Amino acid sequence: MDGVRSEFALKARYIFPVEGKPIVDGVISISGKRIVAVGENVFSQPPIDVGNVAIIPGLTNAHTHLEFSDLAAEIGKPGISFTEWIREVVAHRKRRSADTPNVEALRRRMDRAVRQGIWESVRSGVTMLGEIGTNQTCDRFPVATPIDCTVFRETIAFDREKADDAFGELAAWTDSPRIEYRRGLSPHAPYTVHPDLIDRMCRYSKQTKTPLAMHLAESFEELELLNSGCGPFVALLQDLDAWDASVIPRGISVGWYLKTLAKSHHSLVIHGNFLTEEEMLFIAAQAERMTVVYCPRTHAFFAHGQYPLKEMLGCGVPVAIGTDSKASNPDLNLLAEMCFVREHHPEVKGSEILRMGTLNGARALGQSQLTGSLASGKRADLALVNLSDETANDPHDLLLAESETAVRVLSGGRLIEPMSMLVD
Ligand SMILES: [Zn+2]
Repeated sequence: MDGVRSEFALKARYIFPVEGKPIVDGVISISGKRIVAVGENVFSQPPIDVGNVAIIPGLTNAHTHLEFSDLAAEIGKPGISFTEWIREVVAHRKRRSADTPNVEALRRRMDRAVRQGIWESVRSGVTMLGEIGTNQTCDRFPVATPIDCTVFRETIAFDREKADDAFGELAAWTDSPRIEYRRGLSPHAPYTVHPDLIDRMCRYSKQTKTPLAMHLAESFEELELLNSGCGPFVALLQDLDAWDASVIPRGISVGWYLKTLAKSHHSLVIHGNFLTEEEMLFIAAQAERMTVVYCPRTHAFFAHGQYPLKEMLGCGVPVAIGTDSKASNPDLNLLAEMCFVREHHPEVKGSEILRMGTLNGARALGQSQLTGSLASGKRADLALVNLSDETANDPHDLLLAESETAVRVLSGGRLIEPMSMLVD
């Protein structure tokens, strides 16, 4: 565990393998980067006793935008309308550029924000991230991250003329041998990407076996735009000089976007706050290649009402968890998201919440064979979460009781020192 020994066993009050029941006074054996046994010490040396701790798989934050990780607070006030928030985000980006002396300084500032976001993630037990990158952050994403990142390059091209260029840029990026991190595609949202381009990107995702993430059914205003071609989105896009009434055909629906996303290798439906039962059943029928990503505290920030988590799980929809960015969330603490779900969805079992924050996220990013649960042969991506001295019938209640607890992380069998990532 100290980075010197390559073979060791850890003993803890609880081990949560995720695929299997929690183990009391559990032991896990690690050799190099891999788990070699769960439930027994296979080495001759005694295990390292980490005490009143839960050992869980490293968490997966399936959706974030790290460029905003240097924000001191969310953009806008809680309950802000979604389109008003986008206006403020656009204004923030403009101010950020204006306040920075030149392009290189802006890039360095964004690099720092990305590293800060990774550091913050690690502090809450995250070992895997689904990051939405802009053109700028994608080009300079730190290769040597100590945790596993999939970077989805965001595409915005609403009118047809821009769509071909945008696709060309994207294809050049996905083909580039210079890029060493795992790549994903991200048509931003129905109101910023031409439907034909979304279709093309989904087919390309399948062809290149690349995951694809898209914001969908996120706000009431988005549904209004799709249903009637009216509402605050039209005014917003007109003000941004990005509106063309002919782009989104009348009669198009969230269902059309879902059917298109289902053509992808694997798609992440980001948010899905307003999915109907029929749409949930469609996703459930495509469960092998679709995942909904619930961003609990961001959902609450926009006061969207009750998230249909119970309904989704009831339909068999695979659900993962994301923080979204610090533009709509106070921090990037994924454990806090899971505690929030526990508090606000008491009908959902703790074991299900843990699965959403681990294995379901790894599966969405195509990495569940490698990580996301504690099993022999998987990579030793672990979070060690301090527990209180309380007892509980269901040990998940202990794990999901306190989000501000100390957490240490092993990624590939190595203890991660988060502060080291802040050094330029
Ligand atoms: Zn997002």
